[in-house]
Amino acid sequence: GFKCGIVGLPNVGKSTLFNALTETASAAAANYPFCTIEPNVGEVPVPDPRLEKLATISNSANTIATRLTFVDIAGLVKGASKGEGLGNQFLAHIREVDAVAYVLRCFEDDDVVHVEGKVDPLADAETVETELMLADLESLEGRIPNLEKKIRGQDKEAKKSLELVERALALLREGKPARLAEVSEEEATAFKALNLLTAKPVLYVCNVEEGSASTGNAYSKQVEERAAKEGAGVVVISAKIESELAELDAEERRAYLAELGLEEPGLNRLIREGYDLLGLITYFTAGPKEARAWTIPKGTRAPQAAGVIHTDFEKGFIRAETVGYEDFVGLGGENGAKDAGKLRLEGKEYVVQDGDVLHFRFAN
Ligand code: GDP
Repeated sequence: GFKCGIVGLPNVGKSTLFNALTETASAAAANYPFCTIEPNVGEVPVPDPRLEKLATISNSANTIATRLTFVDIAGLVKGASKGEGLGNQFLAHIREVDAVAYVLRCFEDDDVVHVEGKVDPLADAETVETELMLADLESLEGRIPNLEKKIRGQDKEAKKSLELVERALALLREGKPARLAEVSEEEATAFKALNLLTAKPVLYVCNVEEGSASTGNAYSKQVEERAAKEGAGVVVISAKIESELAELDAEERRAYLAELGLEEPGLNRLIREGYDLLGLITYFTAGPKEARAWTIPKGTRAPQAAGVIHTDFEKGFIRAETVGYEDFVGLGGENGAKDAGKLRLEGKEYVVQDGDVLHFRFAN
């Protein structure tokens, strides 16, 4: 599955957030099979109001959300790139995730020690990013001798790799993250293979005090400005509220949210932003047994989308009976859509769209 790592300096609210995420997920676990939860890894359902609608229309006995994995990556301190603290372990964990959420402390609380002495989310973001950039610098520089050796042996791939390495190094030496590198579609795979920490998409999570959960505060505004400049995602959240919400049942939760002036838990936004950040979209299957959401990367073609359900579906793919979400809901389901001529038969080249309701035909 796709993984989003949660990083940040100590005492910014990472564990509080992560626990809220996994508690909410465990509370819902009965409805979400295969929901495995390890100490620092949690699979959480991706909230999607469309799923309930599809289930109602299709008289589905069950609804099954699609899931996203969050990994709580502790151990970031200044000097992590030099192996200080849990540095090496920290860097190894972060290499394994597809995107990174930086939790930034945007709340004042004299009872909670700030490792840098004062609340300054932009400085904290720099500290985190600097450690990651230093680690990338070192790993890239370490690759050069081997690549040069291969180039002397006329290795064309190595020549291309070295170009990418140099391009990323130039950015890093200017103090800029590798994700700002211009990479063509052809180069994308080789670039990804460099597995750079600062090439991963970033989401800033502003942890504000409870009173600012619906509005944000001056600190989170600073972060929003930075995110806008960088094209990064940003979510304003109160970890404290989220941990309280996670303890409540559905009814109590609704009442508490209304009292706070919030439409939904901040975690829902966090999960959705993480999902968007990873370039993921959702398609659905809907029938009497279950209505279910499935995750695919944007641009996935129908056979590979089918393969997410079962490899046999991909191997024996014949066609995908396809109804757009709006048509499915507007026309009262698959039969209604069919009668209105809105059920399309799509073949192997079809690029699945977000919200498509699909029925795969395949041969064994
Ligand atoms: P981590 O080190 O980043 O994992 O931080 P924790 O989640 O363990 O939180 C560190 C301390 O800050 C704990 O005492 C939390 O109760 C407190 N804390 C976390 N989030 C908030 C918040 O939104 N407001 C306040 N006032 N305290 C918080």
